[in-house]
Amino acid sequence: MTSDPRHILVTGSTRGIGAAIVATLAERGARVIGHGRTDGGGVLGADLSRPGEADRLWDRALARLGGRIDVLVNNAGVFEALPVDAEPEAWRAGWANTLQINLQAAADLSRRAVLHFQDTGGGRIVNIASRAAYRGDSPQHWHYAASKAGLIGMSKSIARGYAGQGILCFAICPGFVMTGMADDYVASRGGDKLLADIPLGRVADPAEVASAAAYLALEAPASMTGAVLDINGASYVR
Ligand code: NAD
Repeated sequence: MTSDPRHILVTGSTRGIGAAIVATLAERGARVIGHGRTDGGGVLGADLSRPGEADRLWDRALARLGGRIDVLVNNAGVFEALPVDAEPEAWRAGWANTLQINLQAAADLSRRAVLHFQDTGGGRIVNIASRAAYRGDSPQHWHYAASKAGLIGMSKSIARGYAGQGILCFAICPGFVMTGMADDYVASRGGDKLLADIPLGRVADPAEVASAAAYLALEAPASMTGAVLDINGASYVR
């Protein structure tokens, strides 16, 4: 691409949407470091369910990328069912784990990114949220929807707070994205009713989300900061 490739950290890149984002960014010439729960396969390991791991990941990624990161993509996330009649302790633990991985770790990384970008003269953050942030989710996923709504609020705050310093922040809200074995995926998202709810007639491909993420990471005009892009086949039109 250019003689000055963008340096990018993508979390949760071992599979699914994150793997597609890394592949797309690399095709476009970026210097990308990926992340997963554990070291190996070319990614930096950090278990984001553990407080403090996000900061450690940032430090390691920065070292690996020669002391400069231009773009942070917060993609890692979990989608775990938590029934309303769970025991109180399990209920609270489920909420804490989802909020820690989906929101707190993204906040910790974003904080480090903003502080770094203030030194380097600017940068971008792309947060992978969810349609659930706006539409809500199933009765077993209050915590997931809440974590993604929190990510949107955080993204807009960063966009508004630091635009004047060249720090841009965007979010993407995918609907259903086929990231696993088709049958398992459809079953986990509500079975046959899933497709009936999508005017496009199919779930999204990870490459479609990756295309939008790469656009926001590399090309989107600065005036777009704070934007939230929907990728859901018109299953939820705001
Ligand atoms: P996935 O389960 O295929 O991959 C999740 C990634 O996050 C993996 O790389 C995994 O290692 C990482 N991760 C999970 N828990 C972690 C932890 N404790 N520590 C470190 N890493 C951890 O998920 P996906 O479907 O590709 O989703 C990626 C993002 O897109 C998530 O934030 C998800 O909420 C969001 N999203 C997905 C869909 C969908 O239908 N697939 C829809 C809307 C939003």
